[in-house]
Amino acid sequence: MYVCGPTVYDHPHIGNARSVVVYDILYRTLSKIFGKNHVKYVRNITDIDDKIINRAKELKITISDLTVKITEEFHYNMQYLGCQAPNIEPKATMHLDDMVMIIQKLLDLNHAYIADNHVYFDISTAPDYTKLSNRNLEELLEGVRIENNPSKKQPHDFVLWKPANKDEEILANFDSPWGRGRPGWHIECSAMSYKYLGENFDIHGGGADLIFPHHTNEIAQSTCAFPNSHFAKYWVHNGFLTCNGEKMSKSLNNFITVKDLIDKKIPGDVVRLLLMSSHYRKPLDYNDKALEDVKKTMNYWYRAIENLDINKLDGQNISEEFLSSLFDDLNTPLAIKIINDYAKLVFASTKEEDKYKYASYLLSCSNFIGLMTKPANVWFRCTINDQQNDQLILQLIAKRQQAKLQKNWLLADQIRQDLLKDGIILEDKPDGSTNWRKG
Ligand SMILES: [Zn+2]
Repeated sequence: MYVCGPTVYDHPHIGNARSVVVYDILYRTLSKIFGKNHVKYVRNITDIDDKIINRAKELKITISDLTVKITEEFHYNMQYLGCQAPNIEPKATMHLDDMVMIIQKLLDLNHAYIADNHVYFDISTAPDYTKLSNRNLEELLEGVRIENNPSKKQPHDFVLWKPANKDEEILANFDSPWGRGRPGWHIECSAMSYKYLGENFDIHGGGADLIFPHHTNEIAQSTCAFPNSHFAKYWVHNGFLTCNGEKMSKSLNNFITVKDLIDKKIPGDVVRLLLMSSHYRKPLDYNDKALEDVKKTMNYWYRAIENLDINKLDGQNISEEFLSSLFDDLNTPLAIKIINDYAKLVFASTKEEDKYKYASYLLSCSNFIGLMTKPANVWFRCTINDQQNDQLILQLIAKRQQAKLQKNWLLADQIRQDLLKDGIILEDKPDGSTNWRKG
């Protein structure tokens, strides 16, 4: 499986995060079906691009300082979201030879031409150029800004190699048979997928916004350079992410980065659950209400296992019903509903044995999709600092009152100690009620 990874020029945003979470679930599901050793997951890093060059200039730092910093941030963000690392994470700058080799092949086979120091791909030579998008060329080009270079044969021919500009730093450009310069974005993915997965491979993924021109051009390059190949057998595209019902944009002030969420101390599990709450092909809206809802869901799941002996839970007990939901085109909304039903059943069970059975399902299925990996007490300690969890503190106080009434001094003291660790101080009043404050 090859997935288009980030262009490392700015803080990863939640639209990027959605894509990574979707393919992480796909990776886990494929590994379950075929065995982890039979799935090869490649996700690239685009570390050379005009956006990177411009951003580095703006920040007055070198390109490599910028790309190293953003790549590290991306990795940290994906860990926060509970995503597993791909098997191979190639960087574009390490694969210039592979790109040059494919561009040369395209020139030799007359699918490309040199004009005005650029190498262009001639799209009139590509069979079924618009097949992936299922639309005609005029429709595709509507609203797409095309670089109008009079030396191109067709206005929509795209660049495979472009010459260096005078004022660019040395690292922005590379040697090639066509002079110093740098590759076009599309050829990077054709080269890296070929290098690690060969001419033909199974799955290619990315955001729906990449269907045209990026993936359309990848197919054209790869199938023309390797004439007997079909390139990717299956294409998987995840839907758009909107924010409060609108497209995310810096000018609308609704542009949310993963860093913003970490800074706000929102647990990664909550964001992860939100990002899988809609089917991957459908649009997903990010808003505070949705975030609040998934947080309640997470708390509810953790509360279901909170008082159970973790050693008696079987963490490998993934139900068939749950797996079938994922095997059906990654139906994550159904998978989440099934997990939630297990939590309900834990609360509803009167027999200890049943409680543990459903709690085992709850934990195993959640773990499978990368959720509930913390023990319950750690979870509540992380979330309790949030003001929105005052409710939870009150519930714990009520639970402690109950324990005191039952003369369960051990439990009552445990709750007080646990809250104290989170900086919550309880003050028992003479009338038997308890006040709390943040210490
Ligand atoms: Zn790509």
